[in-house]
Amino acid sequence: MPPFEPGSVWLVGAGPGDPGLLSLLAFHALGEADDIVYDALVGEGILALAGTGAVLHHAGKRGGKPSAKQADITEKLIELARSGRKVLRLKGGDPFIFGRGGEEALALAAAGVPFRLVPGITAAVAGLAYAGIPITDRRVNSAVTFITGHESGGGPPEGLDWPALATGAPVLILYMALKHLAWMAERLIDAGLSPDTAVVLISKATTQDQHILETHLAAAAADAEAAGIEAPAIVAIGDVVDLRAALDPGATPEARARAVLQLGDSRKNE
Ligand code: SAH
Repeated sequence: MPPFEPGSVWLVGAGPGDPGLLSLLAFHALGEADDIVYDALVGEGILALAGTGAVLHHAGKRGGKPSAKQADITEKLIELARSGRKVLRLKGGDPFIFGRGGEEALALAAAGVPFRLVPGITAAVAGLAYAGIPITDRRVNSAVTFITGHESGGGPPEGLDWPALATGAPVLILYMALKHLAWMAERLIDAGLSPDTAVVLISKATTQDQHILETHLAAAAADAEAAGIEAPAIVAIGDVVDLRAALDPGATPEARARAVLQLGDSRKNE
């Protein structure tokens, strides 16, 4: 493993929750760091891997407390590094996917602080895999699109080209989408996407509280509310969701084998 130099910051993705999904670099950094500045999405199971002497700094909102300001977080990282500490900045999923990792890295660069960037497994990739859904399947989709359902001002993503997404993006993955899900589903249906398009919601993916709900586009927001789906959750829209019937880790091997045959009937294998 590369040495964790005093006076540097490692900006690391912790994955979506299951400690088993940490990279070896993330695991190494957890053991070596003097200070760990972590977000609300980083779970206890991961923080439990911190070295005994590490100081933990919470930098996200949890339990109704206001979230730390982004400028305060970057200032803290810079201050700690300048005082000669080994600073681990730990973020949920991947730091650069809707995680403001870019802003933090730019602030470190501007301050002349040495840093290392370590990717993590993003919630969409891990969440779909744990639900038994390949995020791409060459018979179904030749593209996958990640969308934030929440702009920095709190509103829905109004600037997107919905007709292009409805016709040209076969699988859509929505982050931060619960609040504006009804709004987004309506935009997609108005733009021509079938209201029957398969949808899956995965809440608290890869944790012990994981909750999966399969539905379809027209009903997704109402079904999510009725089922009490809680944040954090990702929403996947598209035909790859149907493959879950055959790959659901919670199903019996017999049920999966039956589902493979049924899928084969409706879709010609090449
Ligand atoms: N950088 C993170 C995303 C941060 S934005 C990543 O790469 O995963 C926060 C959003 O990520 C949440 O609103 C939710 O949509 C998604 N998310 C993060 N962790 C999740 C989890 N364990 N289960 C489901 N969704 C999750």
